[in-house]
Amino acid sequence: MSTGPIVARRTVAVVEDNADNRLLVGAILEGTYNVVPYPSGQDAILGCHRSPPDLILLDISLPGMDGTQVLRALRADPALAGVPVVALTADAMTGARDMYLAMGFDDYIAKPIVHAQDLRDAVDRRLK
Ligand code: MN
Repeated sequence: MSTGPIVARRTVAVVEDNADNRLLVGAILEGTYNVVPYPSGQDAILGCHRSPPDLILLDISLPGMDGTQVLRALRADPALAGVPVVALTADAMTGARDMYLAMGFDDYIAKPIVHAQDLRDAVDRRLK
């Protein structure tokens, strides 16, 4: 007899070239989510296509393709239609949030991540 629905852990892709930030985000989320790290946009575009995550955290400042270019590629992939993409960026100037939302990101998180709960909340809002 089942005691309730069995809900598979959701998967969060973390696209971030800085290893320390990848570890930090992973440490904050891995108790609740499967965290799949990608060190570059190119890796993320291929990996997310093969194995679509439930949400993508996407750094903006990346070597090669930057986050806005990566977003366009992700949005052009029918396999990833409907997967929320959250900008993760050190760009915390006034108006940054509105700018990233206007670009098509679903949400925006400023780095450095000072309050782990802010990151958890942004992910939970989309996935719970
Ligand atoms: Mn970066």
